[in-house]
Amino acid sequence: MAVCQHLNQIEVVTPSGDGCKECLEMGDSWVHLRLCMSCGHVGCCDSSKNKHATKHFNSTHHPIMMSYQPGEEWGWCFVDQGYFESLPTIMAQMGMPAPPVR
Ligand SMILES: [Zn+2]
Ligand SMILES: [Zn+2]
Ligand SMILES: [Zn+2]
Repeated sequence: MAVCQHLNQIEVVTPSGDGCKECLEMGDSWVHLRLCMSCGHVGCCDSSKNKHATKHFNSTHHPIMMSYQPGEEWGWCFVDQGYFESLPTIMAQMGMPAPPVR
């Protein structure tokens, strides 16, 4: 894909919790988890019925998320609809500390 201009919005984040923030509050369930790399919001993926990660982007415009599944480190830019094979590798190249993993 074209070079993503949003990587500078990645911050050193602390995950909001062990599950989707809104689903936990609602007592609902999810399929997979996504971590917002701007604020640490943990939300559920688009295969989950509530799609809270995408809703988080729509309300905050935080562009970059990373998978928050054990063993997964791929990232996604919502703005460019662009996939990153390894977000930790990109962050290391930027001189940032490793992101939180499950
Ligand atoms: Zn981007
Ligand atoms: Zn959710
Ligand atoms: Zn966020």
